[in-house]
Amino acid sequence: MQNYQPADNFLAKQVILVTGATDGIGKQAALAYAKQGATVILLSRDTRKLERVYDEIEAAGYPQPAFLPVNLQNADPNQYRQVAEVIEKEFGRLDGLLHNAGDLGLLSPIEHFDEETWFRVMQVNVNAQFLLTKYCLPLLRKSENASLVFTSSGVGRKGRAYWGAYSVSKFATEGMMQVLADELENTNIRVNSINPGATRTKMRANAYPGEDPNQLPTPQDIMPAYLWLMDNQQCQVTGQAINAQDFMQA
Ligand code: NAP
Repeated sequence: MQNYQPADNFLAKQVILVTGATDGIGKQAALAYAKQGATVILLSRDTRKLERVYDEIEAAGYPQPAFLPVNLQNADPNQYRQVAEVIEKEFGRLDGLLHNAGDLGLLSPIEHFDEETWFRVMQVNVNAQFLLTKYCLPLLRKSENASLVFTSSGVGRKGRAYWGAYSVSKFATEGMMQVLADELENTNIRVNSINPGATRTKMRANAYPGEDPNQLPTPQDIMPAYLWLMDNQQCQVTGQAINAQDFMQA
């Protein structure tokens, strides 16, 4: 969809949880949602980086955010239950959940893939999303209209040699989105996935060290799709695999 124009402050009074909110696309999404009036809950593993994003949101005069330090690599189910309990206590509900945190792992043929890295990528990119979704669903049900968004990738829609655990984890992410969209059809919760496409972040630079980052769209450039997916007035789709760069202004 091109030329999406959000109404001013369209996320006022909405409570949105963003994972991987300290860097790259997740940080930009948190800032973009806050700018539109949302109270954002920032989740990442590094408290200092969380504090910096928190301060940036406060300094801009957006609604006061909250943050939750969680390492998705080794959090146990109890921690996800506690995350949901804290949100319930502080905010009573969730209107949006953007699963954005991701672990690239490494590029290698499957035959030689380091096993520990494989398990870590699956833990961060798949199991953590399952647990966070499971415990947050009761909070999303309490919203009038909620949006659950999973972050995919081009290699989560078509497999590519050497992308190993990352590619497989993104296929699993698409599967989780489709299963949930089917289970939640005709409810207040829409469920979609977003593929950012090649974007100028640390993860992209790690995957393509020889590439000139200045040739790539920035996280800010791809925000229209991220905003649209949270827009209850303009986005009614569920079960869709969205490409963020289809929404970029020409
Ligand atoms: P990024 O700049 O590397 O940021 C990743 C974020 O996830 C950071 O905030 C990071 O926190 C957090 N994170 C990573 N591992 C974590 C863990 N174990 N526990 C908690 N938080 C963790 O990546 P990005 O490029 O913005 O990617 C965002 C999403 O888009 C990912 O799901 C990625 O797979 C997807 N994607 C990106 C591209 C692209 O070209 N950039 C293309 C397709 C898909 P720290 O700051 O603590 O590391």
